[in-house]
Amino acid sequence: MVARTMDELVSLCKRRGFIYQSNDIYGGIKGLYDYGPMGVELKNNLKQSWWKSMIYERDDIEGLDASILTAPDVLKHSGHEDTFTDPLVDCKSCKSRWRADQLENKSCPSCKSNDLTESRPFNLMFKTAIGPVDDGSSFAYLRPETAQQIFTNFKNILTSTNKTIPFGIAQIGKSFRNEITPRNFIFRVREFEQMELEFFVEPGEDATWHKYWIDSRYNWWINQGIDKKNLEFLDVEKSELPHYSKATIDIIYTFPHGKEELEGIANRTDFDLGSHTKNQEEFDIKAKVMKNDKSTTKLAVHNLENNTWTIPFVIEPSAGVDRGFLAILNEAYKEEKIDDKNSRILLALKPHLSPIKAAVIPLKKNNEELVNHAKTIKSNLQLLGMGRVMFENSGNIGKNYRRHDEIGTPLCITVDFETLEDQTVTVRDRDTMKQQRLGPEALIKYYQKYFE
Ligand code: ATP
Repeated sequence: MVARTMDELVSLCKRRGFIYQSNDIYGGIKGLYDYGPMGVELKNNLKQSWWKSMIYERDDIEGLDASILTAPDVLKHSGHEDTFTDPLVDCKSCKSRWRADQLENKSCPSCKSNDLTESRPFNLMFKTAIGPVDDGSSFAYLRPETAQQIFTNFKNILTSTNKTIPFGIAQIGKSFRNEITPRNFIFRVREFEQMELEFFVEPGEDATWHKYWIDSRYNWWINQGIDKKNLEFLDVEKSELPHYSKATIDIIYTFPHGKEELEGIANRTDFDLGSHTKNQEEFDIKAKVMKNDKSTTKLAVHNLENNTWTIPFVIEPSAGVDRGFLAILNEAYKEEKIDDKNSRILLALKPHLSPIKAAVIPLKKNNEELVNHAKTIKSNLQLLGMGRVMFENSGNIGKNYRRHDEIGTPLCITVDFETLEDQTVTVRDRDTMKQQRLGPEALIKYYQKYFE
């Protein structure tokens, strides 16, 4: 069963150390969140799963980690300076500001007044000064998406890796948007992470690759534990597409607050490389691009057979880490009756995403023999490299089980007095709550198999 309300997820996140409001002790800043001890593990596991599927499990994609601060020229030629805007209205009564396209009944959500200004475009990019002089002459933007520095590094990566099209460049990292009304927890925030792939293909082969990436990305989300019934595709209407996009399919997820975009997969034609290349006139650029006399590099591939240069088309699957996190949490959250009196909250996460893979718990707190034994088991399992293993020394087994159910730890391993005699431990499974007794070798095998 899917979580009923966003409040339940927010409360679990705070209680168990997944996510906190950022700058909280000074009153917080809207649209910013901090990932706590459990949150950072789950988020890293999600990113690692994406990275594995993009880079390690294939041979046609390379990785990148580019700078966040971005030169204005890059974002001028990408079109962001002119068009990366949302429509803004002011309420003349209470002076609050809103996104015009999200208003119900064209009235102010705060004071309900209908006395609003005409809407005007508001650019979502954050700016900051570069260097010691802050007179506006030298500034950079905090990137609003990770994609642009992939395009600016196209030639670097092409020449340093000997790749030929079709091939891709993948990047995970922070992006910043000065959203007018951040809301719905981590769904719409001002600082977030994206997992973006730019896949470069021969013009004419773009539609086939677009379809390929739509299927591939859909299946990846299912492998992260998202139920098919909560996913759908939205073929973005031609009138809503940016002028350079031939087609965009959004993967829509049923979040606790409603159906919204989890990931977009766009056919961006030759707009990006065409926009950032030098000598544009040498190429037959299909997209409408701004004249560029600043770029120093040709962003094209050489076809040795007929000595021609082509600007590849780009297929871009662009996913939000934070939205993915929220969707996965929503899917995993369950409340179960244990018996007539008791129930439990459970995060039935896929094991590869669980923040803690196993908790090792001595039956008695501070009993030296039990504690030492438990610590040795923790170290041995930790060395297997499947993720974080936790030693627990709070002594209350029931409480530990409850806590680890709520953070999604698949296995709890209890060390008791029998262990000291025959080395066996009790292994409890999160989902079934079944317990089994395993010796040291069987435990290692079981653990490895579990996380394979
Ligand atoms: P939306 O229409 O919901 O604002 P978008 O179409 O502007 O999203 P893209 O520019 O396609 O989003 O960005 C790619 C992905 O980055 C989105 O699918 C989403 O997962 C994530 N993303 C975009 N904006 C935000 C945000 N403000 N907070 C969290 N994630 C975001």
